[in-house]
Amino acid sequence: MPRTLAVANQKGGVAKTTTVASLGVALADLGQRVLLVDLDPQACLTFSLGIDPEDLDKSIHHVLLGGVKARDVLVTLDDGPDLLPATIELATAEVQLSRESGTEQVVRTTLRPLSAAYDWILIDCPPTLGLLTVNGLSAASEVLIPLQCETLAHRGVGQLLDTIHDVQRLTNPGLQVLGVLPTLYDGRTTHARAVLDTIADTYSLRVLSPAIPKSIRFAEAPAIGHSILTTAPKTAGAQAYRELAAALL
Ligand code: ADP
Ligand code: MG
Repeated sequence: MPRTLAVANQKGGVAKTTTVASLGVALADLGQRVLLVDLDPQACLTFSLGIDPEDLDKSIHHVLLGGVKARDVLVTLDDGPDLLPATIELATAEVQLSRESGTEQVVRTTLRPLSAAYDWILIDCPPTLGLLTVNGLSAASEVLIPLQCETLAHRGVGQLLDTIHDVQRLTNPGLQVLGVLPTLYDGRTTHARAVLDTIADTYSLRVLSPAIPKSIRFAEAPAIGHSILTTAPKTAGAQAYRELAAALL
């Protein structure tokens, strides 16, 4: 079975999508077979890896609503991993699925036929704690929580952990919290480190290493349609994701 990592935090802008793209490419560079899953209707992961959602006939939306097989919408990326792409239609899929009961495991069921083909599946969750995120958590073996180390960053972490505990109780008892990943990290400030220590102590969460440094290169990469590992491979940010990938193996 592949290690299936849900990257989740209901706060936007904490580098969920960046982490899925960069860690995924780093794992692929280490010879791992990697599938990236875009579970955010904003389709930022899809777009940032060079696929224009508007050009897609079929996306994960059609797979979740049935009738289309996941392998028929897969895209193989130049950067290495395969991608299950999203479009804005995913928002309507969430609404439709919300009207039915027992739809927390649709993503899990959808991914099952693909599991033999991959060593890693990384799921990019949307910035909510709604049905799509619950589906991502229900399909995962582990959850990684990116966290920007600033004051108030931890507001909402308790809620996220409550959601994780509900998923563990109801749909996915094996789900483990891999830890928090410090992102947009400015190690020059003692403030960032203090915030991180507080969060680790308050919630008894493991802090993953290395922290991902803040760098303008991350903002440039999506516009080029590749991860930072391709656009700026020698930078500290790319190196940090490479080290994280090696540490996870
Ligand atoms: P989320 O998916 O959690 O909403 P994103 O991955 O889309 O967050 O990142 C939000 C913004 O921050 C994007 O513009 C991204 O390019 C930028 N970003 C991500 N990681 C870093 C970093 N380490 N340093 C600087 N900017 C970053
Ligand atoms: Mg995102």
